[in-house]
Amino acid sequence: MGIRLILTLAAGLFGTMALTAAEINDSDCLVCHGDKTLTATNAAGVVRSLFADAAVVAGSAHRKTACAGCHGDLTAKHPDDNVAAQPVNCSRCHEEESLSYGMSVHGDARIKHVHKGAHAAPQCIDCHGSHGVLAAALPGSPLHPANLAKTCGQCHEQESRDVMESVHGQALAAGRRDAPSCTGCHAEHKIRALKTSSPLAISQDICSKCHASERLNTKYNLPADRVKTFFASYHGLAAQYGSTRAANCASCHGVHRILPSTDPRSTIYKTNLTATCGQCHPGASANFAQGKIHVDVAAAVAGGNLGERINWWVRKLYLGLIFTVIGLMATHNALIFGRKAAARARRQGATVLRMDYSQRAQHFVLALSFIILALTGFALKFPDSWVAVLLGSDEGIRRWGHRMAGVVLLLTGAYHVGYVLATRQGRSFVKDMMPKAKDARDVAASARYLTGLAKTKPKFGRFGYAEKMEYWAVVWGTIIMGVTGLMIWFKLGTTHWLPRWSIDVATTIHYYEAVLACLAILVWHFYDVIFDPDVYPLNRACVDGRVSAEWYAGEHALDARPANGSPPQTQHTISLSMKTKNADSNITIPITSFQVGDRAAWLIGGKALCTPAPAPPKELCRLVLLGAPGVGKGTQADLLHQWSGACHLSTGDIFRAAKSLPPGEQTPAIKSALGFMARGELVPDETVVALVCERVRCLRCPCGFLLDGFPRTVVQAQAFERLLKAEDLPLTAVINYELPIDKIVERLAGRRVCSSCKGVFHVADKLPSPETCPHCGGKLIQREDDRPEAIRVRMEAYHRSTQPLIEYYRQRDLLLTISAEGTAPEILQRTVDALALRPREKARS
Ligand code: AMP
Repeated sequence: MGIRLILTLAAGLFGTMALTAAEINDSDCLVCHGDKTLTATNAAGVVRSLFADAAVVAGSAHRKTACAGCHGDLTAKHPDDNVAAQPVNCSRCHEEESLSYGMSVHGDARIKHVHKGAHAAPQCIDCHGSHGVLAAALPGSPLHPANLAKTCGQCHEQESRDVMESVHGQALAAGRRDAPSCTGCHAEHKIRALKTSSPLAISQDICSKCHASERLNTKYNLPADRVKTFFASYHGLAAQYGSTRAANCASCHGVHRILPSTDPRSTIYKTNLTATCGQCHPGASANFAQGKIHVDVAAAVAGGNLGERINWWVRKLYLGLIFTVIGLMATHNALIFGRKAAARARRQGATVLRMDYSQRAQHFVLALSFIILALTGFALKFPDSWVAVLLGSDEGIRRWGHRMAGVVLLLTGAYHVGYVLATRQGRSFVKDMMPKAKDARDVAASARYLTGLAKTKPKFGRFGYAEKMEYWAVVWGTIIMGVTGLMIWFKLGTTHWLPRWSIDVATTIHYYEAVLACLAILVWHFYDVIFDPDVYPLNRACVDGRVSAEWYAGEHALDARPANGSPPQTQHTISLSMKTKNADSNITIPITSFQVGDRAAWLIGGKALCTPAPAPPKELCRLVLLGAPGVGKGTQADLLHQWSGACHLSTGDIFRAAKSLPPGEQTPAIKSALGFMARGELVPDETVVALVCERVRCLRCPCGFLLDGFPRTVVQAQAFERLLKAEDLPLTAVINYELPIDKIVERLAGRRVCSSCKGVFHVADKLPSPETCPHCGGKLIQREDDRPEAIRVRMEAYHRSTQPLIEYYRQRDLLLTISAEGTAPEILQRTVDALALRPREKARS
């Protein structure tokens, strides 16, 4: 390159200096050079004519250039100085072409074989001609496409003959200017030898120039899919993968002598294919050579041969198979995922309200408009991406989709301002969102905790620093995106007031703010609400507003205020909401009376909460306890509760608890149920089922449940089965305690119950005081339905309704019959053993 430049520029400089010295008129030159007989003999003894035909020069591209303009090395002393004219230096006027030439194979050859002088490689005049230089577009020019093969053929004889025979040469000879000439493939001045080019370069840079051109394919009725199908073939894929050995277009079609496949001389003529394929695949058979390279499987069926039709059908079948199989797999797993996610959410037990309805609605609209804005925005920036394809690559839809989503976002922002100013929840929300000095301290404390420098993590209030950052980033982002978006949308109006560059700046801000927002959502928000192991697969607050009470207590331990109106939970009191037919009412109960398994939610129902278990249960027990009155079912339930952590849930207790509610709190249904109970009759099925359904949260409890007194009839059992199925809560077992009738009567007559803690005792127990509960000091009473007249009715009712129930569960392989004879611990041991021994597959609802 360096030598080339020096040669070129030195010659130019020399020429320029000489030209300034020259004061030679063309007429002076023609005095001698107009003579046709003027000749000169060079050192090698070759005689050359020095005749310059003025008429030829006048018809050339250089007609306005004086002789001295090209022969600048000559001086006024010529020819008396006896200095021979130097070859013309074209670079003086054609500097760029000269530089390109210097980098061509011809230029290279001149450097390499400099000792051969003018014969080393073709120079400008060898291709362009000398005095009669013509523009390449003129038919007389040696560089006219129709003449080019002949011109190049002066040195490249065989190639020239091949080209002239080829489809390209024929087309050129027929005057088709679009057909590729020598320079069409090898370039003009910077002529390339394509021998050493990679397969990809040949196919992509050379042949594709014309064969991928829709204009040329349409104009000359050429198949439009040649390039596409080649690149989809193994050869094309390997070439794209970087193979230097993969077959390229020329490997099969030939280099210069490219002929149509119908020409028997063509390398791709059917009888020549074996030899052509055999160049790379030695031993290729005729059968092998029948394989097609340009196969468009999707379009091959129409008029195709058997192989193509089979190929088409195979592809169709596979596409169907893929969509069906993968679709079914995805649906199957999505359903499992949904079920598991729902079951897991239920297992969370007690929940607190984190986002009220209005907040959830605002979040939903914000999220939806944000997603549409992101998709429609990036589709414009990346028109070739899948996002653009997803939107149908339609600019109208994209633009208006983007604008409409932008308007919705701004309206949501305006609504939020109204919400914050006009509602109590809004004001409290924004107050709690305000950054405080504690947030900065929390960031530092969190950094220390996360890097292991501190052992405890900081405690947060209703909103931690991460949530505050997020909220204010959304506020900021909405303002920025809104202002810049409107500026871009109404650019005409904007430029009335602001300089034009303000639109460019707004566009830059709009784009980069969008990138920042999307990445922040992915990295920051999605971590918090999806990927955080504590909430995965989703923090449900945005769906039903609720979060697990346990999670809330851990993450927002300092939030002493009610979360969106839900009751504050302190160490000492708990507010319980109760839904009655007429209104929601709140009652406050000292929490000290509620411990793990306090059954507050069960006894009171509605929104009542109970204290969640501190640790997961030993073994998840979802048991139904059956047994005639007096078999000691209640005692076993308490013992099983201590053993497994599952709550003892008795429907009888619900009615007894309801009895102590103020009359105003008793619903008509409860009042009527209490009447049945007082008469020793069963409460109607629909009332009991409705009460249990209201308390479904207790059935979802992660600790399991010990249902006592429900179901009591087959109708109840069927309703219960449907409920458990819908909730995906398989029953572990149904335990039926059995005791001879005389022992039952003996036990019931002496049973006493604590009116305060519901503890169950027997007159045979050696209690310090027969009338006082040894646990809580409450009064020991005989239950109304333990009186002799009620016992008779209950026993009858039991046998009438419960016996079919036993049969019902036996058929479902859930029944475990346990003898209730002996001491309570002995019966418990029997129960635990039976549970451990039961076949696992029976543990289903
Ligand atoms: P328990 O303490 O289970 O014996 O129940 C006491 C009373 O509550 C019963 O006598 C019934 O009046 C009523 N009761 C409790 N559970 C049910 C139920 N599942 N079906 C109908 N009545 C019930």
